[in-house]
Amino acid sequence: MAFEKIIGNEKIKQLLTTSIAENNLVHSYLFVGKNGIGKKLFAIEFAKMILCIGENKTSCNNCKSCIQFESKNHPDFMQIEPEDGKSIKIEQIRYMRRKNSRKTNNIFKKSIYYK
Ligand SMILES: [Zn+2]
Repeated sequence: MAFEKIIGNEKIKQLLTTSIAENNLVHSYLFVGKNGIGKKLFAIEFAKMILCIGENKTSCNNCKSCIQFESKNHPDFMQIEPEDGKSIKIEQIRYMRRKNSRKTNNIFKKSIYYK
């Protein structure tokens, strides 16, 4: 189920869940805050929810998309992180852009990136 791994932040969970349910997603989402508050987990779970093709528009853990996502093999999800722990390098951005130039697997969903 949606955001099951995340404790607290109920308002944010509701906002993001509603955005998906109402098909009211915006161009991009930025998760900011102090280290260790769960930004990465939020972003990953949100991406999984967006990509889910289950009936409830949430991460069902049973559909093809959720299974691919959990096995870290989803063709429309790419995660990049600073290689040196500090910043993302231009080579990483270029690689991501090259990969993004192809069409997504599911034309109704978006490609999701996380830094
Ligand atoms: Zn699913």
